[in-house]
Amino acid sequence: MSYKTDIEIAQEATLIHIKNIAKKINIDEDDMEMYGKYKAKLPLSLINESKIKNSNLVLVTALTPTPAGEGKTTVSIGLTEGLNKIGKQTTVVLREPSLGPVFGIKGGAAGGGYSQVVPMEDINLHFTGDFNAVEKANNLLSALIDNNLQSKVNNLNIDPRTILWKRVIDMNDRALRDITIGLGGTANGIPRQDGFNITPASEVMAILCMATDFEDLKQRLGDIFIGFTFDKKPIFARDLNAENAMAILLKDAIKPNLVQTLEENPAIIHGGPFANIAQGTNTIIATKMGLSLSDYVVTEAGFGADLGAEKFLDIKCAAADLNPKCVVLVATIRALRHHGGAKKEEYNTPNLERVTEGFKNLEKHIENIRKFNIEPVVAINSFISDSDEEVQFIKDACANLGVQAVLSEGWAKGGEGTQDLARAVVDVVENKATQFKPIYDWKSPMKEKIETIAKEIYGADGVVFDKKAALNLKRIDRLGFNDFAVCMAKTQKSFSDVESRIGRPTGFKVTVREIEIAAGARFVIPILGKMMRMPGLPSVPASTNMTIDNNGVISGLS
Ligand code: ADP
Ligand code: MG
Repeated sequence: MSYKTDIEIAQEATLIHIKNIAKKINIDEDDMEMYGKYKAKLPLSLINESKIKNSNLVLVTALTPTPAGEGKTTVSIGLTEGLNKIGKQTTVVLREPSLGPVFGIKGGAAGGGYSQVVPMEDINLHFTGDFNAVEKANNLLSALIDNNLQSKVNNLNIDPRTILWKRVIDMNDRALRDITIGLGGTANGIPRQDGFNITPASEVMAILCMATDFEDLKQRLGDIFIGFTFDKKPIFARDLNAENAMAILLKDAIKPNLVQTLEENPAIIHGGPFANIAQGTNTIIATKMGLSLSDYVVTEAGFGADLGAEKFLDIKCAAADLNPKCVVLVATIRALRHHGGAKKEEYNTPNLERVTEGFKNLEKHIENIRKFNIEPVVAINSFISDSDEEVQFIKDACANLGVQAVLSEGWAKGGEGTQDLARAVVDVVENKATQFKPIYDWKSPMKEKIETIAKEIYGADGVVFDKKAALNLKRIDRLGFNDFAVCMAKTQKSFSDVESRIGRPTGFKVTVREIEIAAGARFVIPILGKMMRMPGLPSVPASTNMTIDNNGVISGLS
């Protein structure tokens, strides 16, 4: 049996006019800015703080993933269809995809199968231009820095060797990782080493996603830490008077984008920070917009729960005073086989023994979610290679822990396949939700916060701070950034900082090599391994299989 590709399913869908999606959540046509028939931007004036308090925020996260992804986006969209089907007015709120993975390996991020957001091609490509705006704002700051090095007027005496700010482009292009700029003589700038990151790795993206309003956005842009002067004074974007000009470039990007799901339910897609060196979740503004306009919001955070959920809760929810009422932990039988020791070629072969062993990984994630005072629901993202026996084992093992584990068939059936999951989520929201509590207090000492995450969430015995990291801690203290949040940068493949330690590793310490500062985003980034900020393309990129015909119909986008 052959299955339709994601793009084939998306292209077969009949979309309704975006004003009719807006009508479902009581938005007046005059209140939205149309980007054609199927996309619109929403003004921030629609955010309603008192409604937010009475709405229900549900986070979708996952067990420790395999490289293929375990289906968080797919489950988020499927669950949204299911909740609407059982009468709960629900909006899905997601990140915008980056062009890097679209043309590289992973593909887009608009869901899969019969759980997708549309227009799929637009969402995966330039969409409403937000990524371009972030790129321009980021690169404006770069241009201002290099201009200041050259300029005799208001020269800030910046030591070019200390500049941490890089240029960005939304493309996988490894050749741009390390470059030399300013060559060509006195008229062409001061030569220095620079490099490009991919746009989702820009601090401007992290800031856009943390900002609560336009004023806050400007403040944060001004707070970006650039480097030092020759006499060791810190330099910020505000020293270049950059924040207003950068904010001007972001005046539309700050407004959330409304689109629709395959079953004509509202979807808000806005912002897309990396999940490794940033918070990996959509804008605070979009989440608040969703909660202002509907009774339930389903949202997603990148990677496994040790990274995505922890950052979502400790950084985003703590900063924005959000109270998530349920966490959906996506598990696949495939990933459980992997954590039980199955090799890649055995991922699709039923093996109860492997799944039983692999359950230890899921169990640790369940324990972790409860540490935040939130009850999880396990969504078993159903694949055709799952055996009934394996699925039943997971249900029983979860029941032993007092957790509902429900088969989620949104990929194959859309909302028809997720109503049981929706009912389990509603049960937790209505009967078991209290006030969530972060795992650490932002006001605690920085070292202690990092240790708390490592011990409580990763299960580590302790944290080793390399010499550079220890110096970085001192710098953070000196600059007055001790009460920032912690945005851990660690492999998503293991609870530990070693990729090969699958399952539920014990008896290990994690090593912090250095700690970066994202002053505008108000978090520091402890680096626990080599972090990629500019991916490369694979030897056969996804772009090779893409076509577009004379009518503009695209194929090969996934
Ligand atoms: P994540 O958000 O966790 O990275 P996605 O939802 O983007 O994962 O899914 C990753 C890929 O797996 C997508 O291409 C999607 O179509 C596919 N996928 C998700 N769920 C299923 C499923 N149940 N059966 C088959 N393929 C699936
Ligand atoms: Mg995803």
